[in-house]
Amino acid sequence: MKKALTIAGFDPSGGAGLQADLKVFHSLGVYGLSVVSSLTAQNTEGVSSILPVDAEFIKKQLTVLLSDIKPDAVKIGMLYAESNVKAVAGIIKKYSLGNIVIDPVILSSSGKRLAGKNAVTAIRKKIFPFCKVITPNIHEASFISGVRIKNITDMERAAVCLKDYGAENVIVTGGHLEQVTVDVFYNGNFHYLKGKKISGEYHGTGCMFSAAITAFLARGNSALKAAKLAKEFMNKAFRKSFGTGGRMRLFDI
Ligand code: PLP
Repeated sequence: MKKALTIAGFDPSGGAGLQADLKVFHSLGVYGLSVVSSLTAQNTEGVSSILPVDAEFIKKQLTVLLSDIKPDAVKIGMLYAESNVKAVAGIIKKYSLGNIVIDPVILSSSGKRLAGKNAVTAIRKKIFPFCKVITPNIHEASFISGVRIKNITDMERAAVCLKDYGAENVIVTGGHLEQVTVDVFYNGNFHYLKGKKISGEYHGTGCMFSAAITAFLARGNSALKAAKLAKEFMNKAFRKSFGTGGRMRLFDI
């Protein structure tokens, strides 16, 4: 049985964060391990408040788990605080973790800040160099690289900047672009993952995409193949989304 670990935030609605990641792992036939990095109070209308888990306790969860079970791939989601980023970075080195995917979450769709400026800088410096794949959306890519993104050429420029920080593969996701949706995959060469522009508001899209990549890496795929399979998985997931709360749609996977 292949195993994937997610280090992520707790979302009571089950649409994003740790719960979404576990559902994706399960639906892709990979056993899910999870370490909680922050608690949130949220629903389909947005994130109301955040309680970061203490860095020492994140380390404790990881140490106890990893001294027993070695995951085949690791996804990192919302870390929120700089101290938590440092704690996770220390564990990555201590246990020589590989196949690491990070979704460098900064802002929720509803506009809540999910990581402070210092945390983002620490992610760039201390986590990116160990990553197999990083999956910023255009806002995150723009924030981290300083490139203003309006079109695919800007996404390519941002991807090149981000790769310089040390990740093996960069995927700038284009779901927030106005006209088309193309994800730009860059590993020294560019590849383009196309999808249909889907209207409406969805909760947890970025979390699920990066979790699917993690599951496909755990199953032994290359990063590019994992990204292509994850894109297909998301295209199917959009068709099975449903509205239940007041705003964003959820995925029935
Ligand atoms: N909550 C958690 C725990 C998350 O990790 C994320 C995104 O990564 C969100 C909320 C935001 O999700 P969305 O912007 O899709 O609503």
